[in-house]
Amino acid sequence: MVIMKFGGTSVGSVEAIKRVATIIESRKDKHPIVVVSAVGKVTDKLVDLARYAAKKQPAKVDEILDGIRILHQEMMENLGLTEKGFDKVLTRTLETLQEICATLNRTGEIVKHLYDDLLSYGEYLSSNMLACYLDHYVMKAVMADARDILVTDSQFSKAQPMFDESAANAQKRLLPLVKEGKVPVVQGFVGRDTFGRTTTLGRGGSDYSATLIGAMLHADVVEIWSDVDGVLTADPSLVLEAKRIKRMTFQEAAELAYFGAKVLHPATLLPAVKRNIPVYVLNSMRPGDDGTLITSTSPNRGNGDSCIVKSIAYKENLTVVTVTSTRMLMAHGFLASIFEIFNKYQTAIDLVSTSEVSVSMTIDNTEKLHDIKRELGHFSQVDVATGRAIVCLVGERMKITAGMPGKIFKLLDNTNIYLISQGASDINISFVIDESDLPLVIKTLHAHFFSGNLDPEVFAV
Ligand code: ADP
Ligand code: ASP
Ligand code: MG
Repeated sequence: MVIMKFGGTSVGSVEAIKRVATIIESRKDKHPIVVVSAVGKVTDKLVDLARYAAKKQPAKVDEILDGIRILHQEMMENLGLTEKGFDKVLTRTLETLQEICATLNRTGEIVKHLYDDLLSYGEYLSSNMLACYLDHYVMKAVMADARDILVTDSQFSKAQPMFDESAANAQKRLLPLVKEGKVPVVQGFVGRDTFGRTTTLGRGGSDYSATLIGAMLHADVVEIWSDVDGVLTADPSLVLEAKRIKRMTFQEAAELAYFGAKVLHPATLLPAVKRNIPVYVLNSMRPGDDGTLITSTSPNRGNGDSCIVKSIAYKENLTVVTVTSTRMLMAHGFLASIFEIFNKYQTAIDLVSTSEVSVSMTIDNTEKLHDIKRELGHFSQVDVATGRAIVCLVGERMKITAGMPGKIFKLLDNTNIYLISQGASDINISFVIDESDLPLVIKTLHAHFFSGNLDPEVFAV
């Protein structure tokens, strides 16, 4: 069985959907289950929709709803799906969106569960549209609602799936369809909590849905189809000459995803590791290409500085919180009391660095920063710096390479570096810089670590 996940650009136009249908058909013998994102940028539009509805701006709400309607209607017409069932789905969905907006307008705030409900309709539309197209023109297919499969907790916008309950649902709902020779098309990103409310897994969460379903059904392989040739040595929007990585390990890919490589949602690799399922990252515009294969091991050779690092990731828009207290000296339980406060306000910390009297932490969610600062202030001095970024270099060979920090920081002589973390994972070095230095730092590091003779088994050269 193969799980095939298609991202927003892969289903972003009529041509793209037709291409995707051909790709799915080519896997017919492998019993495909399809997971799909919302049509490109639709989730962003839904985010705006919620904001304008809560701010009581009906003209803006109507404008966005119109945009969503026109986009899907044009695709529907050009795919030949009018009066094939999708027209009714579209009309009903727009009515539902309107109702949710009316409620947000009345409450005047973004009610969390309504926000997730609203956002989920991008995937509801795309999965219905793709299933309808496949079923009428390509092969037997049916939309299978992710809300009947993925059971999650109630942390809206970052819901955590409950694996065993979800697996039982996946087996009950999806396997019979596959047995009947149908391709189930499931929404990515979306689940339902135990109270029956729609939840979402966080932006970019369809990748995670795909590997979850893969693990739940013991799939042979998960394919993440996107708009790039695979996982690259750096974000191609910063480094034009970024190269495709042919092979990498689960751990390498997980670190990259966690530290911001947008091509994979941070949690994507967890379910794949659980069941040791190979994950491919592939380009839906070049379906014949090899992409990146992610497995438990990967070739691991190299020479000089040129094969130590597999890829460089970054995370922008971070805030560094530094907590200083002389009471910290020799005091046990001090770190625990700090983390407890972040935990209480459900604010995740990415990187931590400690000295004798201070602890610095990076966070990207500053929603509760005010409260956190107040509570930390009861026993320490708190400094906050915004506009920071984490840079993260990843590679299994870093384990066996001495002097990596020296090599890196020699290259970045004139850059302010605030926090360094090495050793939490022996395949990753991360550090914090000013956001404004990011493009130059990434380019400099990339030029150094990827300009020599690269192993052709590992990199596409
Ligand atoms: P999808 O809609 O298919 O899920 P995303 O936009 O979420 O696609 O992710 C793909 C994008 O991730 C690429 O277009 C690229 O700009 C960005 N990206 C960032 N870092 C990397 C990397 N190391 N390798 C590949 N793509 C990356
Ligand atoms: N459509 C969602 C988003 O834009 C989920 C995804 O694309 O994976 O975040
Ligand atoms: Mg994505």
